[in-house]
Amino acid sequence: MESGSGSLEALREANRLRVIDALRHEGSASRTDLVRITGLSRTTITTLVGDLQERGLVVEQEEHAVERPERPGRGRPPVLLRLAPSAGAALGLDFGHRHVRVAVADLSSTVLAERRIDVDVDVAAATALDAAAGLVEEVLREAGVDRAQVVGAGMGLPGPIDRRTGTVGSSVILPGWAGVHAAEELARRIDFHVEVDNDANLGALAEFSLGAGRGMQDMVYVKVSSGIGAGLVLGGRLHHGATGIAGEIGHVQVRADGAVCRCGNRGCLETVASGPALLNVLRPVHDESLTLAGMLELAAAGDLGTQRVINDAGRAIGQALGDLCNSLNPSMIVVGGDVSAAGAPLLDGIRETVDRYAQPGAAQAVTVTRGVLGERAEVLGALTLVIADTERLRSVGLAALVS
Ligand SMILES: [Zn+2]
Repeated sequence: MESGSGSLEALREANRLRVIDALRHEGSASRTDLVRITGLSRTTITTLVGDLQERGLVVEQEEHAVERPERPGRGRPPVLLRLAPSAGAALGLDFGHRHVRVAVADLSSTVLAERRIDVDVDVAAATALDAAAGLVEEVLREAGVDRAQVVGAGMGLPGPIDRRTGTVGSSVILPGWAGVHAAEELARRIDFHVEVDNDANLGALAEFSLGAGRGMQDMVYVKVSSGIGAGLVLGGRLHHGATGIAGEIGHVQVRADGAVCRCGNRGCLETVASGPALLNVLRPVHDESLTLAGMLELAAAGDLGTQRVINDAGRAIGQALGDLCNSLNPSMIVVGGDVSAAGAPLLDGIRETVDRYAQPGAAQAVTVTRGVLGERAEVLGALTLVIADTERLRSVGLAALVS
């Protein structure tokens, strides 16, 4: 049986974790904020914060957030607290079809260092994993983060992950990775615990935790890039489905006799609305070397043909999302991926066909908006995968709490 002082210490540890959770979630908070968020008394919070400051896990924020309203006549503004970088760090790795991005952040999701390189991820898993492992060493060195501070790594891949086996679930969507135990292979190279998920799921997690979808319980994130995929947040949680395929809207058929897709079907959404599909339409009339960035510039400069092609892509995406709205009834659709930088032509197209294909009640309930995290959404989601895992932090990262 546990002694009385043992259970008291266990309670203190649980309360310290509640304070750390609150600071992880808020980024920074005053003692008054912590009382409100945790429901603990002012005296308890003061003791816990003092304790955590002594252990070097919590520090006073040097500059006050500018957006905090001034409260005239009530003395100086409250001291804001945040987690110290020494409380722990997490790694995030985002594998696109053509790039790898790696970031290291503290437990408040503040990125300390970040690197991105171009590499053909689809074809050769080993090459991409080796490159990523090299970037991990670089960002740790640049940020001055000791390996002992790292609580784990989150990893995103542009294909469905079978949650039962941890392998890439489709040999046609990501050919070089079929059957590869991605998390194990990366863990072997970098010697940290690795969690893996699909890139659109991680974009959804980031926009839901840190971006446009904060506070939404039911949200769809759609990534429009080299491929098209969606991440679903249902009832405040990421929804993977039975085998990790949930949200693969890129392979919903939108043209009955359309082009043959890499998945083997015809007329998939990806064949009409992905970045490469748009370039295929525009290159013959502009320049065979037209890039995605060039296409976005043309659209921003008011080129009507380019805007029209992007708008048509939005309408095709909105058709698939309209069906999804009837099934899931989300309150927000967040549009991300590099094509989302086109803005209005894409979003207006999506809005138009969501309104046409969704039931009026489902269409009225949903806001269509652009993501606010841009091309970093997926890597931030990979970081969140680690940082939001309280059990993991309890078991490995915050040993100082119980000493
Ligand atoms: Zn397909």
